[in-house]
Amino acid sequence: MKKEKDIIVIGGGIIGLSVAYYLSQQGRSVTLIEKKDEIGMGSSYGNAGWIANGFSIPMAAPGIPLQGMKWLFDPTSPFYIKPRLDFDLFRWLWKFIGACNEKDLRASYAILLSLGQGSFDLFDEIFSQEDVDFGYESKGRLSLFTSKKSFEKSMPDVAFVREYGVDVSLLDVDGVREIEPTISTSVKHGFYSKDYAHLDPGRFAQEMARLVENRGVEILKGVSVKGFEITAGQISAVETTQETFTPNQVVLAAGAWSALLARKLKIKLPIQPAKGYSLTYKCPPELLPKLPISLVERKAAATPMGDRVRFASTLELAGFDSTINQPRVDAIRRSAKEYFSGTEALTEEEIWSGFRPATPDDLPIIGRSDKYENLIFATGHGTLGMTYSLITGKLVSQIIAGEEPSIDLKPLRAERF
Ligand SMILES: Cc1cc2nc3c(=O)[nH]c(=O)nc-3n(C[C@H](O)[C@H](O)[C@H](O)COP(=O)(O)OP(=O)(O)OC[C@H]3O[C@@H](n4cnc5c(N)ncnc54)[C@H](O)[C@@H]3O)c2cc1C
Repeated sequence: MKKEKDIIVIGGGIIGLSVAYYLSQQGRSVTLIEKKDEIGMGSSYGNAGWIANGFSIPMAAPGIPLQGMKWLFDPTSPFYIKPRLDFDLFRWLWKFIGACNEKDLRASYAILLSLGQGSFDLFDEIFSQEDVDFGYESKGRLSLFTSKKSFEKSMPDVAFVREYGVDVSLLDVDGVREIEPTISTSVKHGFYSKDYAHLDPGRFAQEMARLVENRGVEILKGVSVKGFEITAGQISAVETTQETFTPNQVVLAAGAWSALLARKLKIKLPIQPAKGYSLTYKCPPELLPKLPISLVERKAAATPMGDRVRFASTLELAGFDSTINQPRVDAIRRSAKEYFSGTEALTEEEIWSGFRPATPDDLPIIGRSDKYENLIFATGHGTLGMTYSLITGKLVSQIIAGEEPSIDLKPLRAERF
C-alpha cells in the first residue's frame, strides 16, 4: 500500500532540516527521511562549525590545481586524491580545473557573498523568533601565520575580498595576541575578518530537529530511500526500505549521497564525497580560543565549542571510504601544537571523519529540476553547508511556494554543469 505525502525531504543533515524548517513555517506538511538512526550524523555533525561570510574564497581558484598537484605527493598534506579508475571523478576534476579561472572565481564569489549574507540575516531572525541554543556566537575570525612569506602570499586574497567591501584588519603578533592570548610563539602575523560566526554543528542539527518536530514535521529515522517511480515527467513514488510514498514534491538533500540517488533518476550530479577530519578536545577554560581561527599554512580550522576546542582539516577525494588516515590526523594534531600554547593540557575526545558534498565549482545546487517538475535540489554545499543551511531552506521554501527566490538561482541550477 502506498502512502500519500505532500512534501518529502530526503536527508536529515542540516540542509534537509533547514528546508523542513522553512516549509513547516509556511504550514506545509513535510516528511523528512533519514537513513541513519539519528538525525544530523552525516557531514553536519563533526565539522568546524564556521558561519563564513566574507573571507570565503571558493576552492576553485587560479593556482589551486598546481598547488593540489604538489600536495598529492605529501602524505601529511591537507589534500589527497586516491588513484583509481572512476569516470565520475575524472569528469569532476575536469570541470573543477575548468572552473579555476579569475572570471568564474569572481562570479562564484559574488554568489557566495549573497548566500552568506542571506544566512547571517536568517541566523539573526531565528534567534528573534525561536528559543534555541546551539552555541552560536558572532565574533569574527582570526587567520594565523607562522611565516612572513605565507602572510605576504595571502595579500592578493586580502586585496581580492576588500574589492567586495569585506572588512579585513592586518595584525602584527602583538595585535594577534591581544585578540587571542593562547597563540604559541611560532605565530608571527595574522588578520581578523569581522563577518564570521561559529556554532556547535551537532547541537545546531539537534535544535533544528526539535523545532521542526514541534511544528509537526514527520521525521523517519533509520529509513533509506532506495528508488523512485516516474509517471508523466514527475516523481510519482519514493521507494524506501520500509514503505513506498506518493509525494507531491520531493526535495533531494542527501549531501554527498545525492549523486547516487540522482543516478536512479537518470540525472548526473557532479558531487564527490570530499572527506575531512576533525579532532575534538576537552579544553581548560584559560586555553580555549576566543573565536574561530584559521591555521593558514596547515589549512586547518580551530573552533571553540563550549568547553571544547575542535580542529578540522583535510580534503580527500577517496570515494565513500570513511577510514581515518593516521598520517593526516597526526598532521592536524601537530598543527594544534604549532599554533597554540599549552596544548598538552587538552584531552582528545573524538576523532571524526565526514563527507562534504563537493561540486566542481564550489557552488551548491539549489533549484527545481528541469527533468522532473516536482523535484527540487538542495545539495552540493561542499565546504560551507553549515553557512548556507538556513538560506538554502528559505530559498527552497520560496521555490515550492511559487514565489520569486530572494537570490537569483540561475547560477545554482543542476543543469549548469
Ligand atoms: C572536516 C569538515 C569541516 C567542515 N567545516 C565546515 C564549516 O566550518 N562551516 C561550514 O559551513 N561547513 C563546513 N563543512 C561542510 C558541511 O559539513 C557540509 O557542507 C554540510 O554538513 C552538508 O550538509 P548536508 O545536509 O547536505 O549533508 P549531510 O549532513 O551529510 O546530510 C545528508 C544526510 O542524508 C542522509 N542520506 C543519504 N542517503 C540517504 C538515503 N538514500 N535515504 C535517506 N537518507 C539519506 C545521510 O545519512 C545524511 O544524514 C565541513 C565539512 C567537513 C567534513
